[in-house]
Amino acid sequence: MINKLTYLEKLKKTILVVDDEYINRVMLGEILSERFNVLYAENGIEALEMMQFNENVLSAVLLDLMMPVMDGSKLLDIIKEDVRFRRIPVIVLTSEKGAEVESLRRGAADFITKPYDAPEVIVARLERIIELSEDRVMIQSTERDELTGLFSKSFFYEYAQLMDRYQSKRIMDAVVINIDGFHLINEIYGRELGDSVLKRLADISRDYAHENEGIAARGRADTFYLYLNHQDSYDRLEDRLKNGFTGLASSHINVRVGVYVSPDTEQTMENRFDRARLACNTLRGNFQRTVAFFDEEMQHNAIFSQRLIYDIHEGIEQKQFEIFFQPKYDIQQDKPVLKMAEALIRWRHPEFGMVSPFAFITLFEENGLISNLDHFVWSETAGYIHKWKEKYGVSIPVSVNVSRIDIYDDNIVSRIERLVKDNGLSPDELHLEITESAYAENVDQLIKVVDTFRDKGFLIELDDFGAGYSSLNMLANLPIDVLKMDMKFMQGVTKDEKSRRMVQIIMEIADFLNVPVVAEGVETAEQYRLLKEMGCQYIQGYYFSKPLPASEFEELIIKEYQHAYT
Ligand code: C2E
Ligand code: CA
Ligand code: CA
Repeated sequence: MINKLTYLEKLKKTILVVDDEYINRVMLGEILSERFNVLYAENGIEALEMMQFNENVLSAVLLDLMMPVMDGSKLLDIIKEDVRFRRIPVIVLTSEKGAEVESLRRGAADFITKPYDAPEVIVARLERIIELSEDRVMIQSTERDELTGLFSKSFFYEYAQLMDRYQSKRIMDAVVINIDGFHLINEIYGRELGDSVLKRLADISRDYAHENEGIAARGRADTFYLYLNHQDSYDRLEDRLKNGFTGLASSHINVRVGVYVSPDTEQTMENRFDRARLACNTLRGNFQRTVAFFDEEMQHNAIFSQRLIYDIHEGIEQKQFEIFFQPKYDIQQDKPVLKMAEALIRWRHPEFGMVSPFAFITLFEENGLISNLDHFVWSETAGYIHKWKEKYGVSIPVSVNVSRIDIYDDNIVSRIERLVKDNGLSPDELHLEITESAYAENVDQLIKVVDTFRDKGFLIELDDFGAGYSSLNMLANLPIDVLKMDMKFMQGVTKDEKSRRMVQIIMEIADFLNVPVVAEGVETAEQYRLLKEMGCQYIQGYYFSKPLPASEFEELIIKEYQHAYT
């Protein structure tokens, strides 16, 4: 048998005595109440009501067969058919010869004959029956994960409920542990190493759970579940997770932990672990923090996110999405010149108003919906470039954002080629922005796709440069055409020497790669002057303009290239 719930034995279990005769109830109560919490019912109907009420705490039912209203056999049938009650052992109280066998056949666990046996015998038998039934619940559903030897999730939930039932006064924590980007470890280092990582994490989970009177399970792939005594701090677990993977690609292993503290046992297990998972998910891509506790704001965010996911299709159908354009100015001329732009999506939600892409881009990435949206942006943008080219005779290349998921689409190159062709553009008029972290994640596939694009004449802008964790060595070999410096560098550039030096280094890298730099997030004249001095070629930021609706951006083009018409 599996680890026994030793602490359960110390606790009083609850049993229900169903007998219509007062004297029998009193007698059994005498015998049993020292060892058990005893509940009483006078007939089958009342018994059912009590069972529904105490479904989670009942360890056994002692049932008299001969009763008015609803007799014991009828009740026994009902109990055995009801999934909620089926696991509860029923011990039949009878004085009729022959009724014993019949009731065993109907699913009774045991019988006690009247007049009653010696009290110790009854108590011992009852305890034995309860123990057996608990073992059976365990064994029937004992499924262990083959790789790690931990419990499977379904069994784990059942076990956790049992712990609640007997230990309702303990405050428990539901914990979800997950490895950020585990599939990459498998891809980069192979399955075998991936398995070793999972086993190591399983050991850490199991040990930590046991030390805190809890249990651990493995869910799908790299998700682990712990149910244990409440901890004010998870520092100790954090330490072990940080130091536990030596020799196993540890620099790529970023484990996150979500905790839901469940003071009340009213919540279902599923609910509690959903909340722990929510907390865990908030740590995606966060390399600073390992542990997050669930709070109400997460709940609200999750509900909001769910709404957005639900609304996206309708949003696309009803054209609630709109492209804004933010100009990029060339600042190395006599005066700044509008040369290019970036297309940025906006969602005019009928209920929430203008929703920022920050609220939905990562969400849609996770749900695989991002591609729909990106395709829409690409084709709309190509349409606008075409329109402005026709109308004003100027070509303003516009960059669109390419999500990491788009890279896996085998048809991405032909799709974009077709767009360009259909709109009579040349490939270098629709730039593609790819974020640095996408390069870091999946170098081979990405470089393959990027090379194909560049061979066909498309230009690649490396987005958010410096925000990620790429090594300089890797960056020096990237096939790119424009480097977009992340806006975080703008914060300190006018304030401290170190930030200025960072910007300088980025300019040198660009120089080495022989590509121009676009500085993002430029908001002040001082930043602008400094960047100009440092030789930065393009600026995109509020200093010149916020992202604009197409009509306003069009006015900017007219203003900028007015001389062509005067
Ligand atoms: P990003 O690609 O880095 O885009 C630049 C973001 O910086 C934009 O935010 C822009 O409005 C903002 N920004 C520009 N100048 C300044 C400035 O001077 N100061 C400050 N504080 N911010 C400035 P936005 O439009 O909210 O977009 C956020 C992110 O959402 C984008 O970051 C991009 O990663 C993503 N995104 C936007 N549109 C799309 C899209 O069509 N497809 C995909 N896949 N992602 C998109
Ligand atoms: Ca971008
Ligand atoms: Ca950017």
